[in-house]
Amino acid sequence: MNRVVSLYELAFSTGLNAAITFFVFFIFLYFGGILLYSLALYFLKKDFGYHAIQHNLRKRQMGFEIRHSLLSIFIFSIQAIPLQYLIAQGYAKVSFTNAWVLLWQIPVLFLWNEIHFYLVHALLHRKWWMKHVHFVHHRSKEPTLFSVYSFHWFEAFLLGTVIFLPMVLYTFHFFAILCLPVMSIILNLMGHSNHEGHSDKAPQHISRFIFRHSMHHKWSNGNFGFMLPYLDQLFNTKLPKNKN
Ligand SMILES: [Zn+2]
Ligand SMILES: [Zn+2]
Repeated sequence: MNRVVSLYELAFSTGLNAAITFFVFFIFLYFGGILLYSLALYFLKKDFGYHAIQHNLRKRQMGFEIRHSLLSIFIFSIQAIPLQYLIAQGYAKVSFTNAWVLLWQIPVLFLWNEIHFYLVHALLHRKWWMKHVHFVHHRSKEPTLFSVYSFHWFEAFLLGTVIFLPMVLYTFHFFAILCLPVMSIILNLMGHSNHEGHSDKAPQHISRFIFRHSMHHKWSNGNFGFMLPYLDQLFNTKLPKNKN
């Protein structure tokens, strides 16, 4: 653990170090995640009956998605600078002891991630925001693995704020905080993979979140939550056309 603490201290010793660390970390998450999930998808299609949900790929779509994902990673890296300031001033802290707390902290941060995503996403679907900001993500009518960070720079900024509130309000374990972007990209890769296995469950079932997000990209007027369907149910923002 001492080695982890010294790496953390080095990464957050200056704003520049924090920005570089975030840049390398998110590049690794994005390209490494796409590579691993593509491999997983190969076996899921071959052995588990995974099939494409919709076919709406545009010409040169992936180039557009990669360029915008790189821009988003740049924005996440810039956000590391105010985070480093808050850590240096003692306003934001992490702990490195008692790993048992991960058992409740990881689920709490997962829930926070879902709530934060729903609120930001529902806002982005208001007319002005859709026209000026969120249209970039919706250029991908058929989502691909490369669309996970394909955002307008301001959407990347809004989504990147997810880390600030928990770190300022409470001293979470370092690994719980680290889990937040890791969990988020795994769910995002699944949600943008546009492939699912056979299921008899209704589209609103928790296990159908890949289908729901694929339909969100296709029709765009509902399904603002990510993995959990409950906020869409609570606020009545379920997609009316949850079908192909
Ligand atoms: Zn999406
Ligand atoms: Zn959307």
